[in-house]
Amino acid sequence: MDTVIVLLTRDLRVNDHPALAEACALARSVVPLFVLDPGIRARGRQGFLHEALHDLRSSLRRLGGDLVVRSGDPVEETIRLAALVRADGVFTSADVSAYARRRERRLAEACAARRLLLRLFPGVTVVPPGALRPAGGDHYRVFTPYWRAWTRIGHRPVLPAPDAIRLPPEAEPGELPAPPRPPHGSLRGGETAARWRLEHWLALGLAGYAAGHDDLAGQKTSMLSPYLRFGCVSPSEVAARSLGRCGGEEFVRQLCWRDFYYQVALAFPDLPRRDYRERKVDWNGDGDAAQAWREGMTGVPVVDAGMRQLAAEGWMHNRARMITASYLTRRLRVHWRIGGEHFADLLLDADIPDNWGNWQWVAGTGNDTRPNRVLNPVRQAKRFDPEGEYVRRYVPELAGLPAASVHEPWKLPGRVPGYAAPLVALDNV
Ligand SMILES: Cc1cc2nc3c(=O)[nH]c(=O)nc-3n(C[C@H](O)[C@H](O)[C@H](O)COP(=O)(O)OP(=O)(O)OC[C@H]3O[C@@H](n4cnc5c(N)ncnc54)[C@H](O)[C@@H]3O)c2cc1C
Repeated sequence: MDTVIVLLTRDLRVNDHPALAEACALARSVVPLFVLDPGIRARGRQGFLHEALHDLRSSLRRLGGDLVVRSGDPVEETIRLAALVRADGVFTSADVSAYARRRERRLAEACAARRLLLRLFPGVTVVPPGALRPAGGDHYRVFTPYWRAWTRIGHRPVLPAPDAIRLPPEAEPGELPAPPRPPHGSLRGGETAARWRLEHWLALGLAGYAAGHDDLAGQKTSMLSPYLRFGCVSPSEVAARSLGRCGGEEFVRQLCWRDFYYQVALAFPDLPRRDYRERKVDWNGDGDAAQAWREGMTGVPVVDAGMRQLAAEGWMHNRARMITASYLTRRLRVHWRIGGEHFADLLLDADIPDNWGNWQWVAGTGNDTRPNRVLNPVRQAKRFDPEGEYVRRYVPELAGLPAASVHEPWKLPGRVPGYAAPLVALDNV
């Protein structure tokens, strides 16, 4: 082939990129293209995305190529560029959301009409969604059998970055928006930061994962989720390099959860909108309760700490996500869609399968085999934040309280100045 366009979406890397690797192996010229799509609201992720694009452009330039950037409808821009560079084909990574699948269908029609070859590649998950099917079903509804099948199936080999990329001269690169000063200082977007974090994690974090991953204050998880979200690092590479090491299996099981929700979202595209398993819940329409939850002012310290971590960092510990989501849906009885929207606005790692799959799991409408499970935030806090360090870090009003009171300030005589009274009573739970 002479020229291939690689349409990049949320796979912003050069290492272990099946579509890019195949294009470089088959074609004389390759055009890595990213289209800034006004149809996608990047919300709190804009700065991270722009950093990732700048980093990718630098990597592609080092290989002799460039990142070609356009704004508008990705299908129209791809076809326009294909005509300009006289491309023979378009390669892209397959994705699962309803929006991505519509884009793929439109791209397929547009390519067919112009006799352009369209090829879809794996790379967004470890095991492609849809590759594993239970007997008599189109997808796995329960995690454990999925995990068993997932560990038995062979995983594709991890691919190196291409040696070189040759851009056709007609492909004018286009301007990238300057990355705004990131509000979330600690996590910089891009493959360079992702690879640094992965190396650091494998060397220093992974071995302690099984014992430490639920420790709210300890920062003992990988924090790779925003990088996986934007494909700055490939989940296959993370899995391949973790397996066989101390802590590896427990950690890789989490990557399997990610794959699990991707195959759920593929089979049930309404995951962000409708109960996966319908339950008749009498939801509370009280907007004030939801607002207090968003602001971290519910009066339940561990819930407020989680919500304030989210607002400050664009990230929240998994245990805190479970506690805050359970509190909203089970105690305040606010609909899971309201909570999920707020997470989708602020999380750097928010994506459709993981966010909505987890929200429905916690709300009891999703894939949990025990849909009536309700987390007691006080018991959870005492267990996973025994010294109150997490709460004190994010709720300064409580910083001076001793560990014995920090999770239940309502038991102290008198109110803690400036701190909210609990919205609902938590005794007898
Ligand atoms: C209500 C709720 C909403 C969530 N929304 C998202 C979301 O939008 N995006 C997202 O990536 N994760 C989401 N999670 C899952 C999980 O909380 C995060 O993946 C994790 O906290 C990210 O931190 P980490 O990278 O340090 O995770 P680690 O513990 O280091 O795990 C490694 C990777 O495994 C994957 N993973 C871990 N736990 C889960 C899980 N429960 N479900 C799916 N994948 C998982 C992630 O890709 C993560 O980066 C949500 C969980 C809950 C309870």
